[in-house]
Amino acid sequence: MCLARAGVDKMFGVVGIPVTSLANRAVALGIRFVAFHNEQSAGYAASAYGYLTGRPGILLTVSGPGCVHGLAGLSNAGVNAWPMVLISGSCDQKDFGRGDFQELDQIAAVEPFSKYSVKATDITKIPTVVFEVLDRAGSGRPGGCYLDLPTDVLHQSVADSEAQKLIDEAENSRKKELIAKPLVKNSEIEKAVALLRKAERPLIVFGKGAAYARAENALKKLVESTGIPFLPTPMGKGLLSDTHELAATAARSLAIGKCDVALVVGARLNWLLHFGEPPKWSKDVKFILVDIDKDEIELRKPSVGLVGDAKDVVERIYEEIKDEPFCLGKSHPWVEAIAKKVKENVSKMEVQLAKDVVPFNYTTPLRIIRDAILGLGSPAPILVSEGANTMDVGRAVLVQTEPRTRLDAGTWGTMGVGLGYCIAAAVASPDRLVVAVEGDSGFGFSAMEVETLVRYQLPVVVIVFNNGGVYGGDRRSPEEITGPHKDDPAPTSFVPGAGYHVLTEAFGGKGYLIQTPDELKSALAESFSARKPAVLNVILDPYAGSESGRLQHKN
Ligand code: ADP
Ligand code: MG
Repeated sequence: MCLARAGVDKMFGVVGIPVTSLANRAVALGIRFVAFHNEQSAGYAASAYGYLTGRPGILLTVSGPGCVHGLAGLSNAGVNAWPMVLISGSCDQKDFGRGDFQELDQIAAVEPFSKYSVKATDITKIPTVVFEVLDRAGSGRPGGCYLDLPTDVLHQSVADSEAQKLIDEAENSRKKELIAKPLVKNSEIEKAVALLRKAERPLIVFGKGAAYARAENALKKLVESTGIPFLPTPMGKGLLSDTHELAATAARSLAIGKCDVALVVGARLNWLLHFGEPPKWSKDVKFILVDIDKDEIELRKPSVGLVGDAKDVVERIYEEIKDEPFCLGKSHPWVEAIAKKVKENVSKMEVQLAKDVVPFNYTTPLRIIRDAILGLGSPAPILVSEGANTMDVGRAVLVQTEPRTRLDAGTWGTMGVGLGYCIAAAVASPDRLVVAVEGDSGFGFSAMEVETLVRYQLPVVVIVFNNGGVYGGDRRSPEEITGPHKDDPAPTSFVPGAGYHVLTEAFGGKGYLIQTPDELKSALAESFSARKPAVLNVILDPYAGSESGRLQHKN
């Protein structure tokens, strides 16, 4: 009841003792409960749902092992800075320490992955702790929080009128400081603008924090009024269209290597952005960092740090510039240099893409998928992408034109997120189609969730790039293939030509086996217009990729 009052409209999870009646009650109160096979996948769904909707995604699990499986999602939410609440049942409080069923000190277990954890020790405490975990998950830098519901508390009851009263009281005493956003001083905004104004080679970088803050309109106004080129991080892609004339994505190395002032909005200067350091960045580059998290600013020590909400801060920067506007213009040497490099790199890539290579390499099927997705226009599908080569090459080839339409392995490089993300995306954005492009190993982590897709009839088309393993074929040298188990398949190998398309047919979904461009084109046309669960098993040359993807690029 309290979850429904707090605005929770979806829950993901796996039921069992002692949480089954909680799930049933949630459904009766109008919350959609999406039942998974595995808490890991359900947890990834909850984390992505938090990112896509801006409200904490909820994962419900059983005690002990269920809670442990849920840690995958909770940790993924924390590292990606997405709001999520893990709710687990736990053993009877009076039997704790005596070897109760599924006993675990769950508060201790979640500790490294949770911003805030709390146990409801009595039914009367539930309203207060529910509001508190939800508010904390979304406050400041979003992340995962944990709520522990012991079996004995789940078996307690109070009268409806009493419950309403407790919920009212808890709602009225929500901590205001958890909901408030930090405010940046005017003088700080002025400092940032002064730096941008003076810059010879400015760049605007934005990431999934800006996407989360829904800063797209503010960023668009700022970019277009100043003419400053922009570079999205992988999940920042789409805040401004990849096809925008100021997009520096295809000239990434030049843009970050030569810019003298970088306004970085909702993106950490971590491995994805080469820590903001040489040799990828110039040693003299001045950073203006916009982040909701004060600790992030303190860690990176930028020239100017603006602690605040990305959308608010970018709007204020725009307003400040508007009083005395400047615009680089197309013939500005920096803008021209980037545009030239983009053109060069794009045409090089197009030459590769134009070839029809069979048996498939990565670029041929990706081009066909790109064109099919672009052909759908708006609302653009949500793209889910994971795998080594599949994600790396896919990031360069597939085009994002709308905000928050890309979900990938993220800051933690998590593999196995694919189907959970697909399900989250489909229930969060019912108007959009969901298209997953993933490697066979990424798919395999949670392949059983194709049954979940079919059960809920979600409009999700999963395209499996099947190269028979992690990185594909066996690349070991003959000297490495020795010892008593030398006849085993390589650690990187799966059954060649696995029939992943048949898997979905077992549940009544549509499966396609694909080996040629024509087969791919017709399967995409059919499954995109059907808007029903489908698995496209695209067979690739097992040696088309490379062993670690392009790890030196990492993003
Ligand atoms: P990316 O992977 O796209 O580079 P990161 O996850 O590294 O992005 O960084 C996102 C950053 O955005 C985090 O440091 C987080 O604190 C910050 N953030 C989250 N919400 C907001 C917001 N509303 N406004 C500004 N920054 C935010
Ligand atoms: Mg593979």
